[in-house]
Amino acid sequence: MKKCTYCGKNYPEQTQVCPTDGYPLESDQPPPIPDPSLPPPLPEPSWFDAQFMRTPHWAFVLAAMCIALPLLIISLLGMAVCKEPKARQNARFAAGVSVVVMIFLLFFQWCFRRAMAEMR
Ligand SMILES: [Zn+2]
Repeated sequence: MKKCTYCGKNYPEQTQVCPTDGYPLESDQPPPIPDPSLPPPLPEPSWFDAQFMRTPHWAFVLAAMCIALPLLIISLLGMAVCKEPKARQNARFAAGVSVVVMIFLLFFQWCFRRAMAEMR
């Protein structure tokens, strides 16, 4: 509601001046003042930050088992791009896990080839 500064009559919010006397109307609701005690909103995290922050560690381990090399590339990219400390930490973790898994896969492949060679 708006109130006339002269005659005190109430009018709907969209009315600009008092239709009776032409005086300006005053809104009885004060404009909202931002709370200074609240911290300013954080900048929106980048896509990489969001992905790495949201993904739990077990998911990185699982991903490393299936797609070790792509995960290593993505996590190295994440380490370079991410700004959030949590996302960077997760990216480092993912890179580490994918390297360990790749070493294991190469080791098993090597063992398998040796075993095959011995059979001949
Ligand atoms: Zn008036």
